[in-house]
Amino acid sequence: MMEKLYYQIPTLESCPATVLACEKKEEGFEVLLDRTVIYPEGGGQLSDKGFLNDTAVLHAREENELVWHKTEAPFEVGAKVIVRLDVETRRDHSVQHTGEHILSGIAKTLLDTANVGFHMAEDYVTIDLDKFLDDAQLEMLERAANLAVQRNIPVTVRVVDEHELENFRLRKQAKGLTGEIRIVEVGEADSCTCCGTHCAMSGEVGAIKITASAKYKGGTRIWFACGMRAVEASRREHTLLDALARRFSTKPEDVYDAVKKQGDEYAVLRAELKKRTETLFEMQTETLLKNAKSSKGIKVVVHAAQGLSAQELRAFSEKLLAGGKTVAALFGVNGGSASYLLARSADVSFSMRQACEAANALFNGKGGGRDDSAQGSAPIAGESAFLQAVSQFEGYLLRAVS
Ligand SMILES: [Zn+2]
Repeated sequence: MMEKLYYQIPTLESCPATVLACEKKEEGFEVLLDRTVIYPEGGGQLSDKGFLNDTAVLHAREENELVWHKTEAPFEVGAKVIVRLDVETRRDHSVQHTGEHILSGIAKTLLDTANVGFHMAEDYVTIDLDKFLDDAQLEMLERAANLAVQRNIPVTVRVVDEHELENFRLRKQAKGLTGEIRIVEVGEADSCTCCGTHCAMSGEVGAIKITASAKYKGGTRIWFACGMRAVEASRREHTLLDALARRFSTKPEDVYDAVKKQGDEYAVLRAELKKRTETLFEMQTETLLKNAKSSKGIKVVVHAAQGLSAQELRAFSEKLLAGGKTVAALFGVNGGSASYLLARSADVSFSMRQACEAANALFNGKGGGRDDSAQGSAPIAGESAFLQAVSQFEGYLLRAVS
């Protein structure tokens, strides 16, 4: 039977082993050994990484009690190898996993909510709890979990027979376990069946930081980071907050007020701009209608202006059409493209959808709409070519409405 040294001596970093089998896979090879220190993916925990001699072990998986090591190079059956563990990766996984035990155990005792899901990825870890926790409860949970870390409680593993299980009060018990079962305890903080790797003492977890939470299936999904991941998460947040504080020339603790103040000022300026733009449209409407060319009693207003949004084009067209017997073609130029709005008053029968097809062809644009109004957009290759096309479009409209 294969020796799983990662269970027998969790601190062991390397061991000699013999190659029992090596299979070619679609990508690389899978190597079976008589013993290993490399923990295979399982129980929600990621696989260890490591080396067979100097060849990297990229992943390990367990099947029928056998651990298969994924490598890029083959090994001869019977070859003697040294199995080495990537200690940093193991430490990171064990720290996240032990943190998960503490967080889940304390969530149960403190807030009577059960862990119903656990997922560890290379860059994040989540647990799902069966109750919704508000911000105050999350803060309470994080604080209590970190106090358990600070108390530096021993993390113990017992291997018991399946018939002995009923003698233990466990937070969680995996279903369908038979034979020898591993029970992991973090003092009074947690106790459950588990097959992962863990720290020896809770203090090794360093810190548990809840980084995000969301409502999930009637409960809460919590994203958290332990140990160096918690330090890195805090560093990223600090860097971001520091950049914001510099941008607003204020202290980090005053950033929220500064952002809120700017938002309030922006809302006032937008309202003021809208008012002034409307005044401008009214003045321009008068001039444009006075100078507009007509065909069969229908005024054709064609106008291009810088920086007008689709919403502003709409507001402008409503003013131009208010007096009736008018067709308006408005172009808002923004950088290298123009958006256009084609609209008619209710007493004009010519279809703006048809006019839009002509505009699409003339400006090499895309757009469409209804008989009373249509819109589109087109790239602008050069200013003079664009203005020439605008003038051509005016000619088209004058012919088309008659
Ligand atoms: Zn565990």
